[in-house]
Amino acid sequence: MKHIGVLTSGGDSPGMNACVRAVVRTATLNDIQVTGFYRGYEGLMENDGVPLTRYDVRNIIHRGGTFLQTARSQEFRTPEGRAKAAANLRAQGIEGLVVIGGDGSFTGAKFLSEEHGIAVMGCPGTIDNDLFGTDYTIGYQTAVDTAVEAVDKIRDTAASHNRLFFVEVMGRDAGFIALRTGIAAGAEGVLIPETPTDINRLVGYLKTDFQKKRRSGIIIVAEGDDGGGAYDVAQKVQSEFPDWETKVTVLGHTQRGGKPNAFDRILASRMGHAAVLALREGRTREMVGVQGNQIAYVPLEQAIKHHATISPYLLELVDALS
Ligand code: ATP
Repeated sequence: MKHIGVLTSGGDSPGMNACVRAVVRTATLNDIQVTGFYRGYEGLMENDGVPLTRYDVRNIIHRGGTFLQTARSQEFRTPEGRAKAAANLRAQGIEGLVVIGGDGSFTGAKFLSEEHGIAVMGCPGTIDNDLFGTDYTIGYQTAVDTAVEAVDKIRDTAASHNRLFFVEVMGRDAGFIALRTGIAAGAEGVLIPETPTDINRLVGYLKTDFQKKRRSGIIIVAEGDDGGGAYDVAQKVQSEFPDWETKVTVLGHTQRGGKPNAFDRILASRMGHAAVLALREGRTREMVGVQGNQIAYVPLEQAIKHHATISPYLLELVDALS
């Protein structure tokens, strides 16, 4: 393999730049040319790419977001869109592609490979940590750090005013960020999409525990929780306790931004490096994961089809320590 492409796709996550850097540097070391495509599959279809040398990826390992930018593309979901992308790759002699993104991006990569014979490797870049086959995704730990820092600040003001805060964190389908944030910030409760939310149970807990000793607290709510998100949950609880002051904070996109922490920089570096070595060895249609701190290659098919599952132990821990 003499020439590969790299792109970032789907939602951005801290550490994507570190991953692109690792791809470029590893490829260069192995005499493989690299073209970086802007705005994910959009750039691939528009042939909006740039040659990347090891010097082009200087000073980006510590930066959040992605300098290649990212996009969500409807056209790439069509066979015609993918044919356009494949023709652009072929015209430049690009035989392999590293896709840094989430499960949607990997679905697109799998189709591109099956339909047009392009070798593809995926690096899991998403703050949600919901991909099957890897213990961690690039950006997840940084997103948790950001959420914990914010909740620590909210706790200061909650305690000063005797307030009950409902803090909404990202996670439309997955409660990983909420669960870890809840444990690390010592939250009084965590509501996640994977388990049914029982408002009566929450109210019961608040009644016994809060009315005895506590007058302030934090409940973490994943945005996709079946209780309806932080505003809805707060409203339901407030109606049971008209004398209490409840507040809602939605952390939103702050969780996507910011410098990647050391863990994510190292994870992204390892994954980008492993993806290029895998392409060089002739591997394709796999995601680079880490399992028990070892690099593991997982068929894209599996990574897409299955979902990472929430640890029952961590759920118990939240309950035990709240
Ligand atoms: P995140 O988890 O951060 O949302 P993602 O990679 O899952 O990241 P998506 O928006 O779902 O984000 O997918 C990114 C892009 O991948 C889409 O905009 C589209 O171009 C492509 N894609 C997604 N699903 C498919 C599909 N079924 N077929 C072809 N391409 C797809």
